Amino acid sequence: MSEEIVNLTIDGIKVKATKGDTILKVAKSVGINIPTLCFLKEINEVGDCRMCIVEIEGRRGFAASCIQKVEEGMVVHTNTPSVVEARKVILDLILSNHPKDCLTCIRSGNCELQNLAEKFNMRDIEYKGEMQNHPIDDKSPSIVREPNKCILCRRCTAACKNVQEIGAISSTGRGFESCIATTYDESLNDVDCTFCGQCVVSCPTGALHEKEYVEDVWEKLKDEETFVVVQTAPAVRVAIGEEFGMPIGENAKGKMVTALKRIGFDKVFDTNTGADFTIMEEANEFIERLSGNGTLPMITSCSPGWVRFAEKNYGDQLDHLSSCKSPHQMFGAVIKSYFAEKYGIDKNKICTVSIMPCIAKKYEASRPEMEVDGVRDVDYVLTTRELAKMIKQANIDFVELEDSNFDDPMGEASGAGAIFGTTGGVMEAAIRTAVDTLENKSMDKIEYKEVRGEKGIKEACLNVAGKEVKIAVASGLSNARKIMDQIKDKKSPYHFIEIMACPGGCVMGGGQPIKSAKTRATIDVRKRRADSIYSIDEKSTIRKSHENPTIKKIYEEYLEKPGSHKAHKYLHTTYSPKPKYDI
Ligand code: SF4
Ligand code: SF4
Ligand code: SF4
Repeated sequence: MSEEIVNLTIDGIKVKATKGDTILKVAKSVGINIPTLCFLKEINEVGDCRMCIVEIEGRRGFAASCIQKVEEGMVVHTNTPSVVEARKVILDLILSNHPKDCLTCIRSGNCELQNLAEKFNMRDIEYKGEMQNHPIDDKSPSIVREPNKCILCRRCTAACKNVQEIGAISSTGRGFESCIATTYDESLNDVDCTFCGQCVVSCPTGALHEKEYVEDVWEKLKDEETFVVVQTAPAVRVAIGEEFGMPIGENAKGKMVTALKRIGFDKVFDTNTGADFTIMEEANEFIERLSGNGTLPMITSCSPGWVRFAEKNYGDQLDHLSSCKSPHQMFGAVIKSYFAEKYGIDKNKICTVSIMPCIAKKYEASRPEMEVDGVRDVDYVLTTRELAKMIKQANIDFVELEDSNFDDPMGEASGAGAIFGTTGGVMEAAIRTAVDTLENKSMDKIEYKEVRGEKGIKEACLNVAGKEVKIAVASGLSNARKIMDQIKDKKSPYHFIEIMACPGGCVMGGGQPIKSAKTRATIDVRKRRADSIYSIDEKSTIRKSHENPTIKKIYEEYLEKPGSHKAHKYLHTTYSPKPKYDI
């Protein structure tokens, strides 16, 4: 059916638009930017805050442009003196009971409310509202809620309920008492929150953020007795540059490594190498299960938000999860065993820091299962945003840095390790190794484009060594639920499934640079970052984990072979059902 076109005028510009589109969208298409606050494309389009109001000739009052559909003959004005005045009143009311702690706030410099206050020249706040006094919730290892900085835009609740289908937070109370909280105002740590952080990257203010460990890491770097090793996840390098004004998705690996060396880390390693270990173990485990030794379908386990979701919601199905630790946990264990022994460093004096695109990794690193012989695999997890803060604190001019390489002897990674950072990447990497192993030769086919792209659930059927292997890839917890319900009902057709908690995978993790609603409405951030990751793989000389010489050497010298007793000791873990929050 062809789309119906309507003619309208916006700020004197004659526009042809598709019937059904909003004024906000159509205005943007002709270069007119209307300010927004509660709007978040495809996640929260409700017209609540009224910041996006416009005037329409022939109508009384204002219309919220994020929900008002265009009509034939409409004449719209987006910036009349009355519109500007009304927006200032709205801002005045929001700011009347806002803490205005911008100097010390985590979001200062990247806060949509602060930006609007600056844009509208808010010098005097006319209304004097009573200040809120909600306690800060910082009990969890991953996420902090500062309800006093909340402006009730509900972008977080939309992300949690509509996108992830968790509903850990919602709007509670009425009038002045209104706030965003969990049921009975429990800590996020104690409810069904998965620590995916999708609410954090949706929040326009400092009301939700990661728990920071930047100061702890500086302390370790200061201590001359501690050997501080850092590793960086695949998705960090294609996003860190954004914090310094570089284009979205640009690969800044070389500058990032130089910055980490300048900050003073003793060794800078690549989590992509850790991902190669994960593939060796996961592919081996899958082949074992396919030959009858274990439960099918097997599901990947490198997304800690997904693992926590599974433990809380599908405690009776945990035998489907691969027993592999995630790449940075595996790598942490290898650093504190193989690397420590080979270089004669006391493992108890090594501090491992992981730079991750994810806030759930902070929780994962703190899990009691993530240690070997009483030694933690990973001591601190920092997000991409926290690393950017350290670089800024060290007064490093990131954009001007020359490139460096990761350190030997564990800096070599395959293209398969690189693609872990995007949805479908873990599956594609595992299949490259599993197929070569089952066919007993190096196959020409390297790319499995069937599992790439933005679709929430992707599936493919492969013919491997004369056997039909059905695979699926799901990203986002609402899609994880669909996959798990199928398994629970014994209707799953798959042999192998990849699940990531964040829609789009780690490139869109809760620890990545936060993009404003305006940027998210106009740029496909996921695609830019994912394309950059695939380009790293394409340019790699080694594209399969089992062909990585570093990996082969460490198995030869230390871990013996995938699935060995020693590999299990350092690289595998267990899961257990976690109680659902009982209302
Ligand atoms: S949330 Fe924004 S406006 Fe509020 S204190 Fe923080 S930076 Fe300032
Ligand atoms: S971290 Fe994820 S699950 Fe927890 S409240 Fe935020 S969106 Fe919901
Ligand atoms: S916590 Fe943030 S996203 Fe949620 S309602 Fe408050 S300001 Fe909006």
